[in-house]
Amino acid sequence: MDFSLLVETFEQMEQTSSRLALTDHLVQLFKKTPVDLIDKITYLIQGKLYPDYEGIEMGLAERMALRAIANSSGKNLSKIEAIYRETGDIGDTAGKAMTSKGQETLFSESMTVERVYNTFDKIARTTGPGSQDTKLRYVSSLLNDASPREGRYIMKFVMGSLRLGIADYTVLDALALAFTGDKANRQILENAYNVSSDLGAVAKLLASKGLEAVKSLQITLFKPIRPMLAERVINAGEAMERMEGKAAVEYKLDGERVQIHKAHDRVELFSRRLEKITNHYPDVTKASTSIKAKEAILEGEVVAVNQQTGEYLPFQELMHRRRKHGVKEAVESYPVVINLFDILYLDGKGKIDLSYQDRRKLLTRVLKNGTDQMINIVPQMVATKVEEIEQFMASAIENGCEGVMIKHLSSTYRAGARGYAWVKLKREYQNELADTLDLVIVGALHGRGRRVGKYGALLLASYDHNEDMFRSVSKVGTGFTDEHLEQFYKELEKHIIHQRHARVDTGMEMDVWFEPKMVIEVIASEITLSPSHTAAKNAIREGYGLALRFPKFTGRIRDDKEPEDATTVEEVIAMYKRQLKVRPETRTETDV
Ligand code: AMP
Repeated sequence: MDFSLLVETFEQMEQTSSRLALTDHLVQLFKKTPVDLIDKITYLIQGKLYPDYEGIEMGLAERMALRAIANSSGKNLSKIEAIYRETGDIGDTAGKAMTSKGQETLFSESMTVERVYNTFDKIARTTGPGSQDTKLRYVSSLLNDASPREGRYIMKFVMGSLRLGIADYTVLDALALAFTGDKANRQILENAYNVSSDLGAVAKLLASKGLEAVKSLQITLFKPIRPMLAERVINAGEAMERMEGKAAVEYKLDGERVQIHKAHDRVELFSRRLEKITNHYPDVTKASTSIKAKEAILEGEVVAVNQQTGEYLPFQELMHRRRKHGVKEAVESYPVVINLFDILYLDGKGKIDLSYQDRRKLLTRVLKNGTDQMINIVPQMVATKVEEIEQFMASAIENGCEGVMIKHLSSTYRAGARGYAWVKLKREYQNELADTLDLVIVGALHGRGRRVGKYGALLLASYDHNEDMFRSVSKVGTGFTDEHLEQFYKELEKHIIHQRHARVDTGMEMDVWFEPKMVIEVIASEITLSPSHTAAKNAIREGYGLALRFPKFTGRIRDDKEPEDATTVEEVIAMYKRQLKVRPETRTETDV
């Protein structure tokens, strides 16, 4: 398959901000793709080579990328650096530098997707001393034969700056349309994706073996299952109503969610975002080998503890464990324990279709057979009364937890889904004026005065699951320390785009726009109607959306969350309605 076909599609996609048009371009592309390339094309359109959990990156240093462009375009490095300063993107730099060399007419060997992908793969797999030089040679070999338009995308891939704004859901829609002619089949594909976390594998199975094969896709060890997520409730009474009178109530520990995959002596750990994090927790990995099951997939929360007192410590402590070097010292200085709360697979069989009650029994049985001291089961009680939940909640908070998780006893494990089968009741929700929300940063205003050279305010959006859009709900400018301001300015630079992102909807004008990537936690005094924000637009009143009043950053960057895990528009509506119930005097209009 000609690489230029991919390049053409990408160029068209960059021009559009309509999700329907994006889907349509993908459908056309999938239809033209040979079956044995479908998985690779699926990864490439999302700027990847493999599914995320493989953790494979190309790892070419920026200065090497600039040197590769200099070599291939025949310009000196300082000229290339000047173009880079001007464009701010290595792909655009390559495109520009190569055009002025007139490389349109010079390229010789035809560029195929196979060749480009295989070379990328070699770049990613080259490690060790001298690897940067080898990587540079591979990149140059491609650039030397590429047209400027191809060179532009090659470098965007290599540097991970391809921003086509294609979400998983859009790819699933396009696959359903391209191979079955019916978007309704997306649900079947989504189910398969939820248990495999591998869009490329689902695409290939569909294209080669059809929908029935996709339906029978099974859980596989060492491919993470997309986690089941919880809705929030405001008090124990609401939780009990949602649970139809009987529920499992558990400590909600404030740590990091971990999915353990174990087959005999091999153990891998995956984060909530499906990254492999085995190296962060060698102690948990080692302890997991002592679980008496040949093969298992378990879920739990890793929490930092004070070894002297056994007290749980806040989530921030775990940051010290996220490092490449000095892991051994970190393991000693920042001890953790893991509290398991689910079992999804045991000795050759998926368990996600069992009820929660049965999964918990199974989990207890597996752990009884013998484990390491640092592995526990999360404390749980079965409640039939609101007061029982309240009491358990008080004891959870006393023990350093964030609150409680309340789970429907007869619910299956709904991979990748957020729903009311699991609900969370957090300490801060008890104060109706102080809900926290996890929101995506989509834009910013430049700072003035003390904040010159930083951002003065960030534009935040909630997630609209139905339309797969991010709709603005607030600007936030308070709660930031000087370090935060520095950190945000640096981190967000990677996500700057030239115009509002195709999946972002807002009535606000911003100085800078970002690709929706970074999620932060904010707290607000209340939710009000707003003419300029678009979250829940027209849902409460025609022409108005909902917005936060007096929003404040809590200091917590939710890098464990994907943008699609942000607080949803429906949740914002639910919060607004609850607030009306408890505080009927709530203002109804503002121009936040
Ligand atoms: P949140 O991150 O606020 O949406 O809350 C959900 C998260 O709470 C999960 O993803 C887990 O990381 C964490 N958690 C803590 N304790 C439990 C528990 N007992 N059951 C399920 N999740 C838990």
